[in-house]
Amino acid sequence: MIGQIKAVFGNMVVAQTKDRVVKNAIGHCVRKDGKKLLCEIIRVRGDSVDLQIFEETRGLKVGDQVELQEQMLSVVLGPGLLGQIYDGLQNPLPELAEQVGFFLEPGNYIHALDTERTWDWTPKVQAGAVVEAADTLGNVPESIFEHNIMVPFGCEGQYTVQSVAESGSYPIIKEIAILTDSAGNEHPVTMEQTWPVKQPLCVAKRRLLPSKPLVTSVRIIDSMFPIVQGGTYCIPGPFGAGKTVLQQITSRHAHVDIVVITACGERAGEVVDTIREFPELQDPRTGKSLMERTIIICNTSAMPVAARDASVYTGMTLAEYYRQMGLNVLLLADSTSRWAQAMREISGRLEEIPGEEAFPAYLESRIANFYERAGAVELRDKRIASVTIGGTVSPAGGNFDEPVTQATLKVVGAFHGLSRSRSDARRYPAIDPLDSWSKYVGIIDPKKVEILNSVLRRGDEVRQMMTVVGEEGTPTDDFALMLKAEFFDSAYLQQNAFDAVDAATSVDRQRFVFDKILEVIEADFDFKDKDEARHTLKKISSMFINWNYAPWDQSVVPESEEQNKSKSEDKDISKSEVQDKSKPDEKDVSEPEETDKPADKPSANDGQAADRGDFKEILGQIDDYIQTLLIKDDNDESESENELEEATA
Ligand code: ADP
Ligand code: MG
Repeated sequence: MIGQIKAVFGNMVVAQTKDRVVKNAIGHCVRKDGKKLLCEIIRVRGDSVDLQIFEETRGLKVGDQVELQEQMLSVVLGPGLLGQIYDGLQNPLPELAEQVGFFLEPGNYIHALDTERTWDWTPKVQAGAVVEAADTLGNVPESIFEHNIMVPFGCEGQYTVQSVAESGSYPIIKEIAILTDSAGNEHPVTMEQTWPVKQPLCVAKRRLLPSKPLVTSVRIIDSMFPIVQGGTYCIPGPFGAGKTVLQQITSRHAHVDIVVITACGERAGEVVDTIREFPELQDPRTGKSLMERTIIICNTSAMPVAARDASVYTGMTLAEYYRQMGLNVLLLADSTSRWAQAMREISGRLEEIPGEEAFPAYLESRIANFYERAGAVELRDKRIASVTIGGTVSPAGGNFDEPVTQATLKVVGAFHGLSRSRSDARRYPAIDPLDSWSKYVGIIDPKKVEILNSVLRRGDEVRQMMTVVGEEGTPTDDFALMLKAEFFDSAYLQQNAFDAVDAATSVDRQRFVFDKILEVIEADFDFKDKDEARHTLKKISSMFINWNYAPWDQSVVPESEEQNKSKSEDKDISKSEVQDKSKPDEKDVSEPEETDKPADKPSANDGQAADRGDFKEILGQIDDYIQTLLIKDDNDESESENELEEATA
């Protein structure tokens, strides 16, 4: 199908065609020098079509040709996706840079997967088997996973396997099976397939209500504002409050199989940091490079806006593809505000009627549709898999009362609001505990969480009151309550992302320390005066903070160990199942990590281990100290009782 360019403005081209075209189909604008620029039809009016170009449009002229296709914007799916760094159109960036240099010219596209590399194929079905879309035909090892080669997702109804390739080493373009449909037509299948990015990819028996906690190892998230496998959450925050750092910590330490990072529209420098850093980072769970279970899609603010829009969907589709294999995937989008800005720009060019703050009226539904693609599912072979979405929002001036934040809030299950005042005070992670919320149940008993939530709230009330009435006007009990809230904040909610031990706190450790914190909060210390209260809580705080740097000692929970173990296993059923099935020998490697991998790390890091205290020793000191405070109370009480007795006598 051929058209002719009638107008070019910015990233949009209006073309005329006599052929039948459909919205969302892709095509190429052909520049005079022969370069073909990828574009998508975003509106059809009679014989005139509006195209958004995923490249810079410089050099395109009125009268140039447009070649239109019937296919929609799609991604290539197959082994070799893990560890890749793609742009929004799934061009592998390192390869692109190798071929054309670091200054990317428009019109260069590279196949997303290496077609020469060979993979060790093992068939899992035999000729004669009856299969449906997404059924496994065989698998190849990819990184630490078994990558399932599945019946193409677009297949409808039942197919019979006519032939399957024998075990062997093949490139992804090799035909590994031939399927016949009910009409007897043959369909050759290779290890790769394509899928349109804007269409949700989910072939499952049923969707599940997400309820298994997704452990991020960030205390304030796991304990106070939990997220779940298959759930959604957002991190709004002003510039520089730590959104990107928080996502990076999560991508390292979260208990998921695969992480897809969409760096969308942020400044190039930040994206470069991510790309440079990641291949060097070690996966705390496998000891291998973190990149082996990560896919990065990047689109900087300098790249064309249309490609930014595409990058969000590309990342989403890749995440869904790995879910289809029975894995738990985390999709991180940074930042969805930039994506919304791209929508605004495109909508403006289309001269649509603008909504609030000039965003298109469909902003809300687009955001909702995006987050709705998250979810936990039961696959047809009964395995449970999930895609969890975490998106950052960067509202101008940190004002959450703007369309993107508000639209996101309506659909997500947890909200981790970063506050400028916390990040300025270097209270990291800067998640504001008074603002944030979660609809999910995490690893800590919700009743306990509620107690601490109310302590934080009441502590804040006292602090505000104190700015009016001064310290003298505040009752000692109220004052102590405020100090306790402060203690919880500094000793538990704040966490040092750059410390080998403190960066990640395991489930067992969080439960254990949380209970200790609760013990302090609920203890009736009965302080004589404010100075004593201040001094005491300061001392307890510093003991707890030191404690955070001590490697975890699992033996502090001996009686409940079995119970805890079975609980953690419970939590990750889906994962152990996957690994049980695919790689029984992997299981042993992955299981102890559930109990407490991070604690092992510093032992490899000898220099640092020397300054760190011993977990049990510090626990003993804390217990002793609390005990002396309580005994003193008891003494006080008995003294006062004595006094009372004397008085009555
Ligand atoms: P944003 O993405 O919100 O604009 P960044 O994530 O880039 O902000 O963080 C800005 C800076 O704040 C970082 O370069 C880092 O110095 C500091 N920072 C953010 N989070 C943390 C953290 N958890 N611990 C220590 N420093 C942090
Ligand atoms: Mg950022």
